[in-house]
Order: sequence, then structure tokens, then C-alpha cells
Amino acid sequence: MTLPTRLAPSTSPDTQFFWDGLRERRLLVQRCDGCGALRHPPRPMCPQCHSLAWTSIESSGRGTILSAVVMRHPQYPWFETDPVVVLVELEEGWRLVANLAGVESADGVMNAAVAVEFEDFEGDLTLPVFRMVAP
Ligand code: ZN
Repeated sequence: MTLPTRLAPSTSPDTQFFWDGLRERRLLVQRCDGCGALRHPPRPMCPQCHSLAWTSIESSGRGTILSAVVMRHPQYPWFETDPVVVLVELEEGWRLVANLAGVESADGVMNAAVAVEFEDFEGDLTLPVFRMVAP
């Protein structure tokens, strides 16, 4: 049996742009055409003004770690060490959860400046991952 290198995300017409953007090395976020609010995860309606109209904008991919955990359970076969999962506030003011590369512990990562990178997997899947950078 061959194991996938990652679980594939479920996609919908509302989320496809996000996954397509990652394959193009672009971190995209929904922006409401009605009020300009950014929202993630992608969804059909703006929670602020209830507009169904939206476009996507490209994020700088730079942000700050707001929260971090080491994921010990469940254990997945594709992680050699327990991954550090972070909540990042991007410069544009939206938030994204992703793994933090280059560390094996969540110690000392709070409020660290990070930049996004893109990691490719089998099945035409690209995921965002953050790495700490100089502020
Ligand atoms: Zn809106």
C-alpha cells in the first residue's frame, strides 16, 4: 500500500482559487467586494456585510506568529518529527494556520516574524508552510 504524502484538502468552487494559488507560489485571500474585508477560510458570503461578491488578492506571505502548538496526536506517518503548527497573522490582517518549518519545538516562537514558503506533494498538492525570518 502506498501512503499519500499528505491528506488532500476538500475543495469547492469557493476554495479552489486558494489551492490553485498555492500551486502558482501565490498566497491568496478572499476580499469582499462589498466592504473590503478579508476572510479565510474561503466561504461564499461575507460575514460582515453579507455580500456574495468577492475577489482574491495576493498576500505578502509575511506575518507574525500569534499561537503555536506541537501536534503530538494524531500521529501521521509523513511527519518525521511532531510538527509545530502555528497561527499566523499576515501583514494584511488575516490569519492562517500552517506548519512552521525549521524548528522542532514551539519554544520561543511566539511573536516571531515569519514568511510563507510553498511545499509540493504527490497528487498536485501544494501547501503553505511558514519559516521564521528576521523582522
Ligand atoms: Zn463585506
